[in-house]
Amino acid sequence: MTGLHDPDAVSASEPAGAGDSGAAPSESAGAGEAGGVPGGEPTAADEPAAVVGFWQDLGLPGLVDVHTHFMPPNVLAKVWNYFENGLEGGRVWPVAYRRPEQDRLALLREFGVRRFSALAYPHKPGMAAWLNSWEAEFAARTPDALHSATFYPEPGADEYVAGAVDAGARLFKAHLQVGGYDPRDELLDPVWGLLAEARVPVIVHCGSGPTPGRYTGPGPVSEVLARHPGLIMIVAHLGAPEYGEFFDLMQRHAGVYLDTTMAFTDFFEWLMPFPAALRPRLAAAADRILLGTDFPNIPYPYLHQLEALARLDLGVSWLRAVCYDNAARLLGL
Ligand SMILES: [Zn+2]
Repeated sequence: MTGLHDPDAVSASEPAGAGDSGAAPSESAGAGEAGGVPGGEPTAADEPAAVVGFWQDLGLPGLVDVHTHFMPPNVLAKVWNYFENGLEGGRVWPVAYRRPEQDRLALLREFGVRRFSALAYPHKPGMAAWLNSWEAEFAARTPDALHSATFYPEPGADEYVAGAVDAGARLFKAHLQVGGYDPRDELLDPVWGLLAEARVPVIVHCGSGPTPGRYTGPGPVSEVLARHPGLIMIVAHLGAPEYGEFFDLMQRHAGVYLDTTMAFTDFFEWLMPFPAALRPRLAAAADRILLGTDFPNIPYPYLHQLEALARLDLGVSWLRAVCYDNAARLLGL
């Protein structure tokens, strides 16, 4: 087993270090100051009060954030270094919440995030079981974290996924871009089947943003859903940039949801703008969209994600459903 658990193998120079938000905005991506990101203002000392004001104004008991990352510290440090050491084109992605774990947890609690996930994901074989054991330990000492887990197409994946479900995992993460694998891999067939049977949701980064992967886009995962119609799949980042195709997928499958992670922020609107023509479908899908943020690996304040949702102007009931009620219902909170 030597080497299998070696987080140093997560090289800061390879795509796996890119975190879930993927690769850098390219130099040709357009607006924004050179070396900076739009919406990249520093976080403010009064941010917790502003976030609390946001959900209080909606009459909510807090927020549920299905897309946040907690990982072994040395893995997370490498992800952060990847972002901050300058991406392609010399752009800088300052991680707004590069702080010790206890500080990040304290901040989420100050924000009033009642439940949050702890997503981690492997980029190679032999890593997922180790991540899952760390995630189980993290969940045991963090009662407001949703026990999260992951997998990779490898022999034994069905066994450690079954073990994680038995241990109480309530949410899985699959990253087709960083993992570089085909979700139709036969080694994953029993994994999808098991998750469908257990009704445990899986967040899948399957959109082709910000750079396409070999198996990203709606095609491969739609075949998985056709084979496992009971699967509860949360498409990360609202499926960007294939927003419309993932809305189609959601309409075809009752178990498909979309998370808002980074969508509608100045940063995403600059990289992969949400088409105005899809606004009516967004409004109509009020019960299928879940708040996600990518905290802490974001180059702008947490509050900006919330304001980006509010400025869609879809109404209080839409915001209430997205920011709390849908996740509470789906995850049985
Ligand atoms: Zn993420």
